Amino acid sequence: MAEDNTASHTILVVGGGMSGLTAAVEAAEVGYDVILVEKNPYLGGRVAQINQYFPKLCTPSCGLEINFQRIRNNPRISTYTMAEVTHIAGEEGNFTVTVRQNPRHVNEKCTACGVCAEACTTEIDDPFNFDLSKVKAIRKPHMMAYPLRYVMDPEFAKSDAAKMLAEKCPVKAIEPDMEAKQIDIPVSSIVWSTGWTPFDASKIHAYGFGHYQNVSTNMHFERIANKYGPTGGKIVRPSDGKEVKNIAFIQCAGSRDHNYLPYCSRVCCLASMKQATYVRNQYPDAKVTIYYIDLRAMDRYEAFQKKVETDENITWIKSKPASLEENPNTKDPIVIGEDTLTGERYATPYDMVVLATGMETNTALNAKVPAKFVSYDEYGFIVNQGNGLTASGCSTAPLDVASAVQSSTAAALKAIQTVVKG
Ligand SMILES: Cc1cc2nc3c(=O)[nH]c(=O)nc-3n(C[C@H](O)[C@H](O)[C@H](O)COP(=O)(O)OP(=O)(O)OC[C@H]3O[C@@H](n4cnc5c(N)ncnc54)[C@H](O)[C@@H]3O)c2cc1C
Repeated sequence: MAEDNTASHTILVVGGGMSGLTAAVEAAEVGYDVILVEKNPYLGGRVAQINQYFPKLCTPSCGLEINFQRIRNNPRISTYTMAEVTHIAGEEGNFTVTVRQNPRHVNEKCTACGVCAEACTTEIDDPFNFDLSKVKAIRKPHMMAYPLRYVMDPEFAKSDAAKMLAEKCPVKAIEPDMEAKQIDIPVSSIVWSTGWTPFDASKIHAYGFGHYQNVSTNMHFERIANKYGPTGGKIVRPSDGKEVKNIAFIQCAGSRDHNYLPYCSRVCCLASMKQATYVRNQYPDAKVTIYYIDLRAMDRYEAFQKKVETDENITWIKSKPASLEENPNTKDPIVIGEDTLTGERYATPYDMVVLATGMETNTALNAKVPAKFVSYDEYGFIVNQGNGLTASGCSTAPLDVASAVQSSTAAALKAIQTVVKG
C-alpha cells in the first residue's frame, strides 16, 4: 500500500473509456492516487455508445455503472473531463504533464435539473448519436452520462442566447465566458488508454456510404438500435422511416484490405452477429444476410456465434461484395458481388445495408504520444517498452471489452511498479 500521497507518486490515466476506467480504479483501490483525463464531457468511451454488449447482450450501463460507482466512492481518483494532454516532459518516475481543460461552460454547481435545456431554442447535431439527430445546444452529454453535468456547445456559448440562459439557471452554474485552462501535473507514471475511432467508411468509394441514404455503419447502427438513439430504438431506415425487414451486414468493410485498414479488428464479426439479433428481436419476420470473408469469433465467443447460427432467418454468404448501388426509386441499396463458395454472381436489394467497419487506434490519429516515450507498430498501435508510460486497451490493439479490461489491469500494475520503484 502506498503511504506517501505526494504528487510525485501519482499515476496519470489518459482516456476514460473502459480501459482507462479500469486502470484508474484498479490503481486507486490498491491505494495509489490517480488523475484521470478524458477528452469527452463524459466517461465511458465508445462503450457508452453501444446498445448491448456481446456475448451476454446486457446494456453497457451494467459494466460502466459499476466503474462509475467505484470512482464516486474513491477520493484517490481526480477526474478531468473535456481535457487532453498537450505535453509530456521528464522521465519514468518524474514526469510533468501539461493538460488542457476545455471549457464546459457549466460549472460543478449544475444539478442537471434541465431548466436550461428546456429554455434553449437552439439545436445542434448530436455528436453522441453521430449527428444522426439533433440536441439542444446546452445538454446532458447523453442519457446515462457520468459525470451528470450539462455541457454547452462552444459556438453557442458566444451568443446572447447563452447569456440569457445563464440568467435562468437556478444555481448559477452556466458560465458562457468560461475559458480553457492549462494545468501542469507532476506524475510518476502514465497509463495511455485513448482508444479508437471507427474507420471512416466514406473512404470506401465502392460502398457509397454518405451517398446512399440507407447504407449505414456498425457504430451508427448501435445508436439506431438504442432507445435513446435517433429513432428511439426503432430500427427504421433513414430515407423514409420504413421498418427494416431485410438487412445485409458487410464484414471487413475496409478491414483486412491494404487500401484501407490492413488488419482485422477482431470484434466486427461478433458486433454484426449481435446487431442481427437486434433486428431479429424487433421484427420476428425480418431476414438478415451476413456477407463475410472468414467469421472470426475467437475463444469463448464461438458459443455466441453458434447460438446466432441457429436462427434460420439469418443467411451467411462467404463473399466480399465488390460494390453497392442504389435503386433510385426505392432507395434500396443493392449488394453486388460473387459468392465465393458457389461462384454465383448476385445483385441483391435490401432495405438497409450496414458496413462492419473496423477500429482505428487514436494513437495513429489524434492522440499520439511523442515517439521518445513509446514505440509504435506499423498501424500506429503502441508497443509497450516498460519506461513508465504503459498503453492499454485499444491503444495497443483492436480489442473487445473483456480483453481491454485485462490489458488495463496489467497496465495499472506496471504503473504501480514505477511508483514503488520511485
Ligand atoms: C460496432 C462495434 C461494436 C462493439 N460491440 C462490442 C460488444 O458488444 N462487446 C465487446 O466486448 N466489445 C465491443 N466492441 C469493442 C469495444 O468498443 C472496445 O473494446 C472498447 O471501446 C475499448 O475501450 P477503450 O477504453 O480501449 O477505448 P474507447 O472506448 O475508445 O475509450 C477511449 C477513451 O479515451 C478518450 N480519449 C481519446 N483521445 C483522448 C485524448 N487525447 N485525451 C484524453 N482522452 C482521450 C476517448 O474520448 C474515450 O473516452 C465493439 C466495437 C465495435 C466497432
